[in-house]
Amino acid sequence: MAERFYCGVDFGGTNIKAGVVRAADRMLLGQVSVETERQGGPEHVIGQIILAAGQAVAKAGLRMDQVAGIGIGSPGPLSHKRGEVYQTSNLPGWRCEPVAARVAEATGRPTTLENDGNAAAWGEFWAGAGRDVDSLVFLTLGTGIGGGVILEGRLVRGGRENGAELGHMIVQAGGRPCSCGQAGCLETYASAYKTAQRFVEALEAGEPSVLAGRHRAGLPITSKEIAEAVAGGDRLACRIWDETCYYLAVACVSIARVINPDRVLLAGGMIAAGERLLLSPVREKFAEQNWKLRCEGLVLEPEIAFASLGNNAGVIGAAGAVELAIEEGTLANAE
Ligand SMILES: [Zn+2]
Repeated sequence: MAERFYCGVDFGGTNIKAGVVRAADRMLLGQVSVETERQGGPEHVIGQIILAAGQAVAKAGLRMDQVAGIGIGSPGPLSHKRGEVYQTSNLPGWRCEPVAARVAEATGRPTTLENDGNAAAWGEFWAGAGRDVDSLVFLTLGTGIGGGVILEGRLVRGGRENGAELGHMIVQAGGRPCSCGQAGCLETYASAYKTAQRFVEALEAGEPSVLAGRHRAGLPITSKEIAEAVAGGDRLACRIWDETCYYLAVACVSIARVINPDRVLLAGGMIAAGERLLLSPVREKFAEQNWKLRCEGLVLEPEIAFASLGNNAGVIGAAGAVELAIEEGTLANAE
């Protein structure tokens, strides 16, 4: 039997990344990354997606007709069934764009569309830190917080296809306002960007920190500088970071109660802070808040761990979404 390959494209308001994954060992081949020219509008960006897919396939040493299909991970809200991106906050002017149909038409390959958080979660389940479990929840800590849910081996999209928006899970009723219109969403506290924003707010309110000079000099403060200050024992950095870990733990408790996955995977640049600074405190705060119903010798709580595919989770997962669509019987013209 001929080797099987899938093409994956992960696109957002900043970059379009494409790659080819070999089905047999889920190895990523032929990667391409270009800047999203979002001012060009949806037709232009869809053209860029088609181009990037073609370049990735060529870079992998293949012809387009040698890939079983193309998977696209996109910001939502969107419809997997219809292959349409309804709109996205980072790409102005997008309205019910038939992305999957356009890509399929231009490439001649069956194409499937998934929410980018779902695709990345699927990537970790298919080829990363979730390969050995049946159920996992994935949280990527970036500008916002993207999420995905795999339950008993199935990707959970939700009855209205827009579930698993874990960044907009409310962890503090009546809390900080979120760009989505709700208040107290997880991402308003615990995303990398919002952690930095909460820190800068406290600095500007006059709280002392080793990073005050940096801020006065107009230099950016990201979660990376804050993590370094935490490692150095800076009081303000420790307080803000501790809150981030607390809210992540709150989210993990709710996830454990609703989904009860085997594993909760944390991803995104912020996990560079490492086990001691990030994972351990989240696990500790989780244990403090978690239910006290215990059965001797039985593990009922999810393990909280780091994802393993880094920035490639989106592309690998989008490619894996082709295999998923074949298994689900939803990939048009699948061979
Ligand atoms: Zn929100």
